[in-house]
Amino acid sequence: METPANASQVQPQSPAEGMQTPPVAAAAWRELCTDCGLSRTTDPGRCGRACQFLRPDYPAMERRVHGRARDPGQHPDELHFGVHRRMLQAALRHPRPGAQWTGITTRLGERLLETGTVDAILTVTGAPDDSWHPQPALVTEPALMAECRGMRMGYAPLLALLETARARGYRRLGVIALPCQVYPLRVLEHELGLERLEIIGTPCADNTTTERFHEFLGLLTAEPGQVNYLEFRADYYVELHFQGGGKEEMPFLQLPISQLPSDFWPLTCRTCVDYTNALADLTVGYMAGRGEQWLIVRNQRGERLLELLGDELRCREPRSGGKRRGPVQGFINNTERAAGGMPTRGMPNWLRPIVGRLMPYVGPRGLELARARLEMKAAETLIHLHQVAPRRVKSMVPDHVWQLVAGYQISGITEVHEENRGQDGSGPAA
Ligand SMILES: Cc1cc2nc3c(=O)[nH]c(=O)nc-3n(C[C@H](O)[C@H](O)[C@H](O)COP(=O)(O)OP(=O)(O)OC[C@H]3O[C@@H](n4cnc5c(N)ncnc54)[C@H](O)[C@@H]3O)c2cc1C
Ligand code: SF4
Ligand code: SF4
Repeated sequence: METPANASQVQPQSPAEGMQTPPVAAAAWRELCTDCGLSRTTDPGRCGRACQFLRPDYPAMERRVHGRARDPGQHPDELHFGVHRRMLQAALRHPRPGAQWTGITTRLGERLLETGTVDAILTVTGAPDDSWHPQPALVTEPALMAECRGMRMGYAPLLALLETARARGYRRLGVIALPCQVYPLRVLEHELGLERLEIIGTPCADNTTTERFHEFLGLLTAEPGQVNYLEFRADYYVELHFQGGGKEEMPFLQLPISQLPSDFWPLTCRTCVDYTNALADLTVGYMAGRGEQWLIVRNQRGERLLELLGDELRCREPRSGGKRRGPVQGFINNTERAAGGMPTRGMPNWLRPIVGRLMPYVGPRGLELARARLEMKAAETLIHLHQVAPRRVKSMVPDHVWQLVAGYQISGITEVHEENRGQDGSGPAA
């Protein structure tokens, strides 16, 4: 059983002109919940029909948002990445300081405001007492988007500010959000009285509460309080930046994952089914970007968002390298062995730095790495749900997740799927 991450009242920040961070109501308790903010609104009952963790219907939502559901028959990469018109490897020609990558996301928010396309951007900034803690904000001044740059580990009750936006007369909204915030927003989109909604999504995986994230930093470095940037890079290294300008990097294989408690990642994030933010207009990530950013342009609104950046953006075709099958099956075996806890490591300590150095050259790269990550995530979702909440498998797992793991060996999982198919005759063969 899980409690919402930010169950206490979010504290107000001193109001700056052009950025509002009003207090929000306390969260209602929900079993599987990342506190997207809906339970804190005046109509918390909407969670029952809008939540990603209950009975998501991605094909119907894709049809509503993009005009069609993902179609792997015509567009094979849509099985992994969802409906899209094109994907790009991209970077801002002038990367912004403090950004997680080059700052495309923040720049899009700035441009939406500069051009008067929207009245406000709904996003997160750092909490006053802990810059790692995401706090929902409504930004109306383009220059203040800079305050929101960077990735924060944790959950922000973003959607609680939809009512604030309405009360202040913001009818044209830009939203920067994680997949489990975008899903309920899309379900409710037509009830919000908005004239315009532009959604810039980021991919998301392996999130946890900010408190837990601080524990992780404490295992990584002797100076956790000095860390102001962390990223799990696509070349299998973690990069840390410290106040004062220091930097450190370490291979994934040397991370102290096995020292983390088994509930370090909440069940929500271990069983999340939408890594690529399939209902955003434009997804801005990095996993297929080979050291740059990775854009998934999903619809006409996404195309128009990109046009706002003009030649500020340097783009190229995303590329692929290596083969994912072996690493994905290895990950599945490891996850099964851990039986709901942290993945164990079948490798002696002395070998880890060597393998860590080799992985960027021999492991899957670019789009192939992103496909591998999607398949690992799908397997992880099925293994954990099967172990911890088997009754939810049928309602929570969309068909495309089953298709992502078809062909891999996962004990017991195929049987569950076959059983479900037997009951209602639906679903693809795994
Ligand atoms: C928890 C988390 C996990 C992620 N995992 C992946 C991944 O596995 N693969 C991948 O390709 N990309 C992932 N991303 C996205 C990636 O870290 C970058 O945010 C993205 O590539 C945009 O980079 P940028 O330089 O354009 O962002 P910036 O211009 O620096 O802007 C970042 C934006 O993200 C928003 N943001 C930051 N933290 C949060 C949060 N906790 N909740 C809601 N919004 C937030 C900020 O408000 C800001 O608007 C993740 C992001 C988060 C928050
Ligand atoms: S809709 Fe949001 S607040 Fe409601 S249960 Fe789901 S994640 Fe929690
Ligand atoms: S991993 Fe999934 S459930 Fe967790 S915060 Fe990210 S989008 Fe939400």
